[in-house]
Amino acid sequence: LEARRHNFLAAYTDIRGAGALAWTDISTGAFHVMACPLVRLAPELARLAPQEVLIADGLDADAVGVIEQCGAAITPLSPASFDSRSAEARLQSLFQVKSLEAFGNFSRADLSAMGAVIDYLEITQKGRLPLLRPPVAQVAQRMMQIDAATRRNLELTASLSGGRAGSLLATIDRTVTSAGARLLERRLSSPSTVVDVIEPRLAAIACFVDDINGAEDLRGTLRRTPDMDRALSRLSLDRAGPRDLAAIRNGLSEGRAIHGAMEKADMAPLLRDAAGALAGHDPLIDLLEHALVAEPPLLARDGGFIATGYHAELDETRKLRDEGRGVIAGLQAEYADVTGIGSLKIKHNNVLGYFIETTATHAQKMLSPPLSERFIHRQTTANQVRFTTVELSDLETRILNAGNRALEIEKTLFQSLKQAILDTHEAISAASAGLAELDLATSLATLASQENWVRPVIDESRDFVITGGRHPVVEAALKKSGEPFITNDCSLSAEPDHSALILLTGPNMAGKSTFLRQNALIAILAQMGSYVPATRAEIGLVSQVFSRVGASDDLAQGRSTFMVEMVETAAILNQADDRALVILDEIGRGTATYDGLSIAWATLEHLHDVNKCRALFATHYHEMTSLAERMAGVENATVAVREWEGEVIFLHEVRPGGADRSYGVQVAKLAGLPSAVVSRAQAVLEALEKGEREGGDRQKALIDDLPLFSANPASAAQPARPSKLDDRLKDIHPDALSPRDALDLIYELIDLAEN
Ligand code: ADP
Ligand code: MG
Repeated sequence: LEARRHNFLAAYTDIRGAGALAWTDISTGAFHVMACPLVRLAPELARLAPQEVLIADGLDADAVGVIEQCGAAITPLSPASFDSRSAEARLQSLFQVKSLEAFGNFSRADLSAMGAVIDYLEITQKGRLPLLRPPVAQVAQRMMQIDAATRRNLELTASLSGGRAGSLLATIDRTVTSAGARLLERRLSSPSTVVDVIEPRLAAIACFVDDINGAEDLRGTLRRTPDMDRALSRLSLDRAGPRDLAAIRNGLSEGRAIHGAMEKADMAPLLRDAAGALAGHDPLIDLLEHALVAEPPLLARDGGFIATGYHAELDETRKLRDEGRGVIAGLQAEYADVTGIGSLKIKHNNVLGYFIETTATHAQKMLSPPLSERFIHRQTTANQVRFTTVELSDLETRILNAGNRALEIEKTLFQSLKQAILDTHEAISAASAGLAELDLATSLATLASQENWVRPVIDESRDFVITGGRHPVVEAALKKSGEPFITNDCSLSAEPDHSALILLTGPNMAGKSTFLRQNALIAILAQMGSYVPATRAEIGLVSQVFSRVGASDDLAQGRSTFMVEMVETAAILNQADDRALVILDEIGRGTATYDGLSIAWATLEHLHDVNKCRALFATHYHEMTSLAERMAGVENATVAVREWEGEVIFLHEVRPGGADRSYGVQVAKLAGLPSAVVSRAQAVLEALEKGEREGGDRQKALIDDLPLFSANPASAAQPARPSKLDDRLKDIHPDALSPRDALDLIYELIDLAEN
C-alpha cells in the first residue's frame, strides 16, 4: 500500500436511472457517497481513481464500459448485495443508529451503493469490518468538475508518461506526513466551487505565510508524527502489532505538543479547529506512555513491549523468568564443585532444553556412582557427554512457565490497549485529520513563500484576470537548466450574453500550450484553496475545467487520433456551462487543413454564442484571427518571436494581436532537419505564399512556378566554395599564438570577413 496515496474501493449502482457512487478507503476509514448519473460516472471515477469497483450483476452495459475504461478492477456481486432495504439495516447496525438521518438524506441508490461496499467488506475481511467513519454525502455541484481527459492533459496527479514525477502534484508537494500527502492529492483532485470552503483554506495558508518560521517549526514536529490513520485501521482489522500502539501514542503526544504551541488567539478558524482536535487525548496518551516501552518490537507474540512498572504480575513473572537464569549460573558453580570438574557447563538448546555438559574425558566420573545417582545421562556426542538432574529440569519448567506466562499477560494487555484505542477511534481520526490539515496548510505556505506565489482573490463573478502567471511544472523544469520562465498575463472577463475568449496564434514551440495550461492550473490551484503562481489573480468561480489537445494519440483505446479529438470536443460543447473554463489547444490539427479550420471555426463560434464560457483557444490557423473583428469578447493574442538573421528566437511573451506567420521552417531548422531540406521547404513556402497573394490556385502555383528540386541552387548539399576567411582560419594554430599575435589575427579576420 502506498503511504502517500489513497486506496479506494468503490461501488456503482443504478436504480431506475438514478445512479450513485459510494467509496471508501479502508486504510483510513473514509466513507463517501454521491449521486452520480451515468454521464458523470467517467469524470468521478477519474477523480477518485479507485482500485476496485463493485457492480451488481446485470448492470447496464454502458456503465460497465465506462468503469472498464477507468482502469479499475471490476467485481460483480449478486443484486442482493445492492438491495437498498437490507443496505439500510446494515448501515444502521454498523453505525449503531436507529436512523441514518443524522448523517444526511440518502436516496435509495445511495443506500444501495453504500450497502454493497459494506457487504463486500464483510465478505472479504471475514466478518471483521474496518473502522469506517459515518458516510459523508458529497455533492457534485460543490466541486469543480474535471473530466478524465482534462486531468490527464493537465497532468494533475500523474504525468502523461504515467508516473507521479512531472505531475503538478509532485511539483507542489511539500507535505511531511503521509496523511498530509493524501489530503493534498484529495484537494487537488477535487477543487471546490464554494467560496466559503476555499476562503478558510486560503486564510489558513496566509497565517503561515506571515509566520514562516513558525510554520517551519511546526513542520519539524509534524515530520515526527506517524501515520495514525493506517495504524488505526490495522488495529481494527487485527493486523496490528505493538508498533501500531506506539504510533498512536507518538502521534497523539506530538499532536498535544503542537496544540500547546499553537494556542495563539489570532489563528484562522480552520487552524483553530485542526489544533482543537489535537487536545483532550491526555488519558489515552498517559495510558500508552505508561504501558509501552519506548521502541516496541514488531510482533506482539515476541513480547517485550510492555514497560516495567505497568503491570505488577507481569513484572513478577518476568523477574521469576530472569532470576531463573541467575539460579542456573549458581547451579553450574555448585555442580563443578560437587564433581570436581572445573570445566563443567550448563547450556541450553532447543532440543534438550537446559543440560549439563562435560568433555568425554571427565564423563566417566559422572557416569559411575555416586555421581551417577544424581546426574542422569542424556546424550553423548563426539567430544561431549550431556547430563541433566531433577532440580535442573524443575528449574527449567519454572523458567519456561514464567516466560510463557509473561507472554500470555502481554498478549492480554495488548488486547486491552487496543480496545482502549478503538474506543476513542473517532477522536483519534479527528486528531489525525487535524494534523493532515496543519501539514497541508504549512506545506502550501512553504511552497508559496519559496516560489513567490500569491493569494488569489475569489468571487462569484465571471472574471479571470491573471497578472504575471507562470506554469509551475515548466518553471521548475527550466529552473534546473538555469533558464528563466517568462511570466504572462491573461485577462478573460465574460459579459452576461457571451463568452470571453482569447484566440492565441504563434509558431510552434513559442509557448502556446504552456500559456493555456498554466491558466487552467492557476484556476484549479486557487479553488483547491492554494496560493497560485502569479503576482495577482482574480478568479470568478470556475465550475468546470476542460482541456483538449488536438491530435493526441490514444492508440491504447483503439480510436483514431482525430476521432478522439472530435469525441472530446463534442463533450465540451455539450457540457460546458457559462462558468466553465475551456482550453482548446490546436483543435482540428488532426485532419486536412480546410476540414480542420472549419471545425475549429465552428467550435469557437459555439463556445462563444452557446456555451458562453471563458476559453483560451490556441490555433495555427491564422485565418481565424479575423473572427475577433466579428465577435465581441473574442480577442487575438500571439506569442512573440523575434527573427534574427533568418533564425527565430522565442520570447515566450503573450501579446495582443495575431501572428503573421508560423515560422515552421525555422523551427524545423532548429530541430536539425538537413539543411538541404530546410532550404527546399523555404522555397516551396515562398512559392505558395506568392501564389496565394496573386489569388491563384495553390496547387497550380506550386507546379508552375517552383523550380525543380535539382535546379534549386540553395538545395545543393555541397558546401559553398571555401572563402578567403575559411582558408585563413585553416592556417591558424592557436597553441602557437601569443596573446599579442592573437589580437592582431582577430583584426585581420574581421577585415577578411567584411570584404
Ligand atoms: P507551443 O505550444 O507554442 O508549441 P509550448 O507551450 O509547448 O509551445 O512550449 C515549448 C517550450 O517552450 C516549452 O517546453 C518550454 O520549455 C518553453 N516555454 C514555453 N513557455 C515559456 C515561458 N513562458 N517562459 C520560458 N519558456 C517557455
Ligand atoms: Mg503546443
